[in-house]
Amino acid sequence: MTEDKFDAVRRDMVETQIRRRGVADPRVLAAMSQVPRHKFVPSHIWDQAYNDYPLPIGEDQTISQPYIVALMTQTLEVKETDKVLEIGTGSGYQTAILAKLAAQVYSIERIASLEAKAQKVLEELGYANVHIKVGDGTLGWPEEAPFDAIMVTAGAPQVPRPLTEQLALGGRLIIPVGDQWSQTLTLMRKTKEGLKTEYHGGCRFVRLIGQHGWKEGWVAEF
Ligand code: SAM
Repeated sequence: MTEDKFDAVRRDMVETQIRRRGVADPRVLAAMSQVPRHKFVPSHIWDQAYNDYPLPIGEDQTISQPYIVALMTQTLEVKETDKVLEIGTGSGYQTAILAKLAAQVYSIERIASLEAKAQKVLEELGYANVHIKVGDGTLGWPEEAPFDAIMVTAGAPQVPRPLTEQLALGGRLIIPVGDQWSQTLTLMRKTKEGLKTEYHGGCRFVRLIGQHGWKEGWVAEF
């Protein structure tokens, strides 16, 4: 597929999968129209990059479905002055969308090979406001806190306390919370009166593994 073809397929993705399902924030729609999603997936599946489902990116991990990326981004209400923390860099695609909308993006990935690939593609595409490191994102990034917005792109058994602690007053945190098969998109706002919680529908993510997430190698018992 030529770059022109990718542009056309991407416009179609935004129209049919995202706008028509109710995502209306013009800044989010513009970012989703601009970021070349195919560059974030292995080249042998570039022809599927704009399809309506998650794709494998190696290490048993996935790049999320485009609609989920758009929905989470819109729900997080990212402003252009925001300092954002993302947990679960994965391919770096969501990082790129956030980088289009915010002032600075800090992102943590626990798998070093994924972090290296994401770092490379984000550099090649010229994102200068992105900072990525390998680590356990359930601990947050305390040296850079507070954050105006935090996005967790892996499914958690509960909201990791370090993340709510690292949220600025007025800040928002979005995170899928549930068991390992299904979760609820959960938005928390830090207000003067405390944390306010909203729920934004069901979803299914790979597991958030770490000190305040799932334990590595955890297996379900029936
Ligand atoms: N946002 C990504 C993208 O656009 O490609 C998709 C993320 S993928 C669904 C979830 C990612 O979270 C995986 O790459 C996984 O390794 C990572 N992850 C899981 N637990 C983590 C943790 N404690 N800290 C950082 N990353 C974690």
